[in-house]
Amino acid sequence: MNHLSTEFSPRPNLKYPFEKGFHPKPGEPKEVADGVYWMHVPMPISLDHINLWLLRDGDGWVIVDSGLDSPICKQVWDQVFDSFLTPESVKRIIVTHFHPDHIGLASWLARRCECKIWITKGEFNHYQAIVNREPKTHTIAAKQFVDEIGFPEGYADTYMRFFSVDEKDPLSRVQEEQCEFIKDGDELLIDGKSWQIVMGNGHSPEHACLYCAELATLISGDQALPRISSNISVYIINRLEDPLGDWLDSCARLRDTIPNDTLVLPSHQEPFIGLDLRMQQLIDDHHAQLNRLRLKVVEPTTAFEACSVLFDRELNEGETLMATGETLAHINYLWHRDEVSREPNINSLEPNNRDSLIYTTRK
Ligand SMILES: [Zn+2]
Repeated sequence: MNHLSTEFSPRPNLKYPFEKGFHPKPGEPKEVADGVYWMHVPMPISLDHINLWLLRDGDGWVIVDSGLDSPICKQVWDQVFDSFLTPESVKRIIVTHFHPDHIGLASWLARRCECKIWITKGEFNHYQAIVNREPKTHTIAAKQFVDEIGFPEGYADTYMRFFSVDEKDPLSRVQEEQCEFIKDGDELLIDGKSWQIVMGNGHSPEHACLYCAELATLISGDQALPRISSNISVYIINRLEDPLGDWLDSCARLRDTIPNDTLVLPSHQEPFIGLDLRMQQLIDDHHAQLNRLRLKVVEPTTAFEACSVLFDRELNEGETLMATGETLAHINYLWHRDEVSREPNINSLEPNNRDSLIYTTRK
């Protein structure tokens, strides 16, 4: 979820302390640094697992991320609570960001463990804005967003259903009174060691990573994944923003502030060493995409047309939606820097495209 499985050219220089493809059995967390345990949780979606982390804290535990709100993820927690730690021993739950595979079971866990959820204010506010959408206003905004992309005839209806408002039981959602707020630079004392909150932006508004210099370990969430690129997207709620600019700044900041020999514990795939290199690869890949886009927008183009250039391969519906969101993030990057104009496509020869936007290099 929230990632296009784009595996770019082979990346031989990252080091993997565990064999590629290895993961602990669900329900049997594995210690990867002193007092830091890796939990592998299967998910019933195309991104088929998430890594959660358990930090020993004296006689108790801290949980980092919660898993998707689905029966299979709940089952894994049941196994862990049967055989590894008790719900009463959990002192707090830290949520890196608002995406459903990370926050999904946080409220359920917090009630079960009778503890608080620690999250940044930016993530919580964004989450609230999404779960509390007013259906009618949201549908109008979604229709405008889909129209602006310039999908070919027949596509728009398909994509509208991805924007339907989720009708979940409000009790399964995180409530403000369950939360404690954390911010960039905060230090949490866990098992006598300092864990620093290092914020990243662009994949989500205020994504929290956790860095422990004493253990030379970074819990990176979706901010640093070894082989897939995190989805950087413009959607309805941030349609005028520049998440790619934020993301590139965050990658540079992580590259320049966290030592390269740090063990990185990502939310997907395996732990790795080589953060500097990985951040630079991601920066270079996005700049390569921006250069492809610059060549395309020499001629006026819609977001959908630009998408087929940036993602020149077969994509299913969900991937197409993420790819158009990511294309828009690249377009907005150029637009925010006055490299392209953004105009209504009123003269389109295709009547269904007259509500789309057209982007052209500024001469
Ligand atoms: Zn995410």
